[in-house]
Amino acid sequence: MESSSFLKAEIISITRLNEHVKLFLLKPSEPLPYLSGQFIIIDFENLNHIYNTRSYSISDLRSDQLIEICVVLKPDGAATPQLFSKKEGDFLKISNAQGRFILPEPFTENPICFICTGTGVAPFRTMIKDLLFNKNFKNKIDLFFGGRNQTDLLFKDEFETLSQTYPNFQYYPCLSREKWDHLQGYVHEHYLTHYKHKPEAIFYICGWSKMLKETRDHLKELGYTRKEIKIELYD
Ligand SMILES: Cc1cc2nc3c(=O)[nH]c(=O)nc-3n(C[C@H](O)[C@H](O)[C@H](O)COP(=O)(O)OP(=O)(O)OC[C@H]3O[C@@H](n4cnc5c(N)ncnc54)[C@H](O)[C@@H]3O)c2cc1C
Repeated sequence: MESSSFLKAEIISITRLNEHVKLFLLKPSEPLPYLSGQFIIIDFENLNHIYNTRSYSISDLRSDQLIEICVVLKPDGAATPQLFSKKEGDFLKISNAQGRFILPEPFTENPICFICTGTGVAPFRTMIKDLLFNKNFKNKIDLFFGGRNQTDLLFKDEFETLSQTYPNFQYYPCLSREKWDHLQGYVHEHYLTHYKHKPEAIFYICGWSKMLKETRDHLKELGYTRKEIKIELYD
């Protein structure tokens, strides 16, 4: 873990997004500045595990007074059942914002493609809003978001509204188990179709190792280099 100072944060609200995912809105005891894409660490202090800490991406673009995280329950996990039993008004011990999974530095206007499944979308929600609202980014932004069924497509309405408002943002949700009128199958086939001629782009991939490795391998096969592929690994 990078050097970090922990502070108290009150749980202001808890919103259930689907059967397994909750949003926690936290109010730190002092301002907590962050860059879009970064994560915080929660110190659970008494986990039945060798590590008492778990990391969570900051999932929305807000002021430094409010930090939102989006967490999927791992029923046999050490931390998430404890987090899911918390109530509004409870307190957590959280670190300052961390990580280098952030928008390009120095900032460039190259097209950006985000690829994820599940709560891997959390940092992308913050980064996409940062690009559109703060950075006035005019180049192409694609989000490929894979799920099994529609309840997996976290923030679907919000991404649809953003893509209707900002023509440079394209939202590509795809489902592997449920039939619907939009993209079907695994996320891979869809970004591979769009990027098969290797247009200039920077890729951000976030989530669990299997999906991450598969995506990175596919992009490398298309000819993209390590410098053009940024990853955030959750496990
Ligand atoms: C940068 C980052 C951002 C993340 N963001 C999110 C997010 O936004 N939403 C979300 O749902 N999940 C996120 N995660 C995953 C999250 O940190 C937890 O791993 C997850 O919630 C499962 O925790 P658990 O205790 O319930 O499960 P468990 O299975 O009990 O815990 C597994 C976790 O323990 C830790 N661990 C175990 N062994 C080691 C080891 N040898 N070295 C270091 N750590 C170890 C790891 O965090 C591992 O994933 C993120 C992880 C990282 C690294």
